[in-house]
Amino acid sequence: MIFCRLTLFVVCLYFVCSRLRDKITELLYNFKDRFALSYGLKLYNHGGVMKNTAAKGTQDILPEISSAWEHIEDKFREICQLYGYEEIRTPTFEHTEVFARGVGETSDVVQKEMYTFEDKGNRSITLRPEGTAGIVRSFIENGMNSLAFPVKLFYEITAFRYENVQKGRYREFHQLGVEAFGAEGPFIDAEMLAMLQHFFKALGLKQINLEINSLGTLESRAVYRETLLGYLRPHKNELCEDCQARMEENPLRVLDCKNDHCHEITKSAPLILDYLDEESEAHFNKLQELLDNLGVEYKVNPKIVRGLDYYSKTVFEFISENVGTQGTICGGGRYDGLIKLMGGQDTPGIGFALGEERLLLELEAQGVLRNDRPVADVFIASLDDEALEAAQKLSQELRYLGIRAQYELTGRSLKAQMKYAGKQGAKNLIVLGGDELSEGKAAVRSLVEKDKAEHEFDLDHVEVLADYLKN
Ligand SMILES: [Zn+2]
Repeated sequence: MIFCRLTLFVVCLYFVCSRLRDKITELLYNFKDRFALSYGLKLYNHGGVMKNTAAKGTQDILPEISSAWEHIEDKFREICQLYGYEEIRTPTFEHTEVFARGVGETSDVVQKEMYTFEDKGNRSITLRPEGTAGIVRSFIENGMNSLAFPVKLFYEITAFRYENVQKGRYREFHQLGVEAFGAEGPFIDAEMLAMLQHFFKALGLKQINLEINSLGTLESRAVYRETLLGYLRPHKNELCEDCQARMEENPLRVLDCKNDHCHEITKSAPLILDYLDEESEAHFNKLQELLDNLGVEYKVNPKIVRGLDYYSKTVFEFISENVGTQGTICGGGRYDGLIKLMGGQDTPGIGFALGEERLLLELEAQGVLRNDRPVADVFIASLDDEALEAAQKLSQELRYLGIRAQYELTGRSLKAQMKYAGKQGAKNLIVLGGDELSEGKAAVRSLVEKDKAEHEFDLDHVEVLADYLKN
């Protein structure tokens, strides 16, 4: 009897408690929503846990490293412009169809990795997983085929792929790339590879290997495809799951599978270079001749197929020995059929994309990562409030003259200001205040060359001070 009552009591207690718990949870949620709205905070509720951390596969690029990124991007822009490329900026998202057609329905990117969602107008939208498809869409839409050829475009973008996160591989990542439209011959292929070599050299990279291949025309590739399928079919059961699944649709991808078994099987597979049509073969031979002429070192690797369906003739990869198992830093190739495939006039095209995250790892591995954070040319310390106002005004005047000037903004003591200036790596120090200030004068002391004499300046002639600080 007692046992029964006890059970009933426990059941009731449990019932009351869970009702109470639900009520409290609801109240908390309401409060949180109001809190989030009123403070504009982005609190995203996930399974009852508030996530205030960066989403998986994304990263913050903080000031302590952002100069290294800027350096790479500046160099890239500079080199692109030397070779006649102009920047294009296309939208971060496109209609899903742009990528489905432009990247290729059978590619891993389209099948597994895209961030696709329906917007409020029921359109299927996709965050760009790469740069080329959007640029080709823009090329067609803006009638760029009426421009003088070649049309040379470069881009610096973020792109998005739902991938396994690992070192140097993120779901939001940064790409640098170029596309050149309207040039058919191998000269532009060679120029592009020479330009990449120029870029890597300018960054200080030493060992980085270029591997090239030719996939032929779409027609010659179709013949090779059948031959390769004939070779692969008897081995189907020995291939990895991915390869078994994609073999019939895209047998070439089996060639660059990283799985050991697949690698073993493809060792004696027929080679694409033996199936090139005459035109592709001549193109590929000439390319090699031109690379030799330009002093660009390379290796022919008939296993390079690239992950995307649209390539034809030249394909290439820059491979590092340092970045983990997937050593490709930059990949690209010719895509002569893509523009027509996407609804434009038949126009040849070639391009490459390189991942900045991996490039950064490579620069670090080779000990040539440059991260020159900007430092103040001068820190203007102030003795009192009057001097602080003078310091602010002087800083402003100096900045107009191109001098990086900083002054005290948090009310530190003079001693603390000087310590701060040193810690920030300021090159020079001015202390404003007292008689000197009322006479309209200030003295500059170098914080870099300790035995350099102090130099006195007239505050009415800021340009003289600016000239001194520049040197
Ligand atoms: Zn495989």
